[in-house]
Amino acid sequence: MFYQYIIIGGGAGGLELAARLGRKFGRQYGRDKVLLIDKTAYHIWKPTLHEVAVGTVNPQQEGLYYSALARRNHFSFMLGNVIKLDPENKQLTLASIYSHQEQDEMIVPERVFSFERCILALGCGSNFFNTLGAEQHAYVLENVYDAQNFQVHLLNLFTKSAYSPKKVLNVNIIGGGATGVELAAELTEAYQEILQTFGSSQYFDINIHLIESAPRILAGLPEHVSAQATHALQQKGIKVSVSTRAEEIGRDFVRTNHETLDSDVVVWAAGIKASNNNALFGLPINRINQFEVNSQLQTPFEGVYAMGDCASCKWDDERYVPARAQAARQQAIYLHKLLYAHHQQQTFTEPFVYKDSGSLVSLGDNKGVGNLMGSLSGKNFFIQGLIAKWMYMSLHLMHHQAILGAPKTLLLAFARLVHRRVSGRLKLH
Ligand SMILES: Cc1cc2nc3c(=O)[nH]c(=O)nc-3n(C[C@H](O)[C@H](O)[C@H](O)COP(=O)(O)OP(=O)(O)OC[C@H]3O[C@@H](n4cnc5c(N)ncnc54)[C@H](O)[C@@H]3O)c2cc1C
Repeated sequence: MFYQYIIIGGGAGGLELAARLGRKFGRQYGRDKVLLIDKTAYHIWKPTLHEVAVGTVNPQQEGLYYSALARRNHFSFMLGNVIKLDPENKQLTLASIYSHQEQDEMIVPERVFSFERCILALGCGSNFFNTLGAEQHAYVLENVYDAQNFQVHLLNLFTKSAYSPKKVLNVNIIGGGATGVELAAELTEAYQEILQTFGSSQYFDINIHLIESAPRILAGLPEHVSAQATHALQQKGIKVSVSTRAEEIGRDFVRTNHETLDSDVVVWAAGIKASNNNALFGLPINRINQFEVNSQLQTPFEGVYAMGDCASCKWDDERYVPARAQAARQQAIYLHKLLYAHHQQQTFTEPFVYKDSGSLVSLGDNKGVGNLMGSLSGKNFFIQGLIAKWMYMSLHLMHHQAILGAPKTLLLAFARLVHRRVSGRLKLH
């Protein structure tokens, strides 16, 4: 089967690109012009995974079906896991699909697709840096299934701690980047919420320990943002250890370069690495399996592009574009422009230029912290509190607006607010 544009991966970047291209071409040429492929059936905004993990976001309500988004935005959607790419002959292969109930029953065989242009937007997973026991014993937040898996385990641990004589739950989070910090903060909120559903005889303590190997948390952000975030976490009762490296993770312990800690559960949020499968795609990759692209996001093969977390793209002489939702979004907007210009047979020489508009980190329900870059002055502004939290949420809203349009985004935001008020903040099943 042939498609002119195939986008693989419907995350923060790929879905936005599919929606933009679909709206541009689909109305005029039909939905078969642009195909989006994803290995899951529904989309969830990845920066909310820490909320899914603690149960403050329900993925069944938050998730949007790709097939419905495809219909609305005039592109096609195919469920499938890309396992092979032949960039020279412009072909890709999707793995067979097996039934969840009957593991042996193949319901869809392997499929091969040809394309004129293919955009890889596969995202990234976790980097365990060969730490002993990390892969076996630590939870990760790579996708919605990981987050749901952790949430079920967390509910079990809450219940177990409420009835055990120990009355304490030890949670260790490895990695003090945005994911680790946001998860630690959200976890304290979930803990407060769960206590409200318990009687006083079931109360238990929680020890949340955030472990970071660098000299400060949020090392990629300005120092005062790190200092403010550390202070806010400590006020919530979270222990923050910096210059501390996790060296071994066991079933009930974490051994660092300083001490051995008791542990009921560990979450690994210490770094990213793209899939090992990327090495089989016949494209140059870097040491963390990201596809190397030029300033127009193209791989060495004409018509094969990579974007978002799975792409290694130079920012300037020293730095690479960071793995962030805002970068994936900017690349989607850029590629849409580039592909449209090519379609119009115009010469397009403009390179992709990443504009850092700052970074915001959520510190729970009504708090955030971060820095914003002034677009004219280029100066860095520090913001915190409720305003920072609102600005943090605006990136999510902008993503929804790009795939749903403004009226539906507003309606959805309102419906979710009402649902939360009525049914409570925490998902308890
Ligand atoms: C808990 C958490 C909090 C975060 N907070 C922030 C934040 O506050 N701000 C920020 O800017 N960034 C944040 N990030 C990072 C941000 O989520 C990523 O940078 C962004 O999602 C990258 O977008 P992407 O399109 O490259 O990949 P993703 O959004 O990861 O999407 C990749 C898609 O590819 C699909 N896929 C993967 N492999 C295959 C395959 N073989 N075949 C078919 N489909 C495939 C996946 O199912 C997925 O849908 C956070 C990340 C996490 C985990």
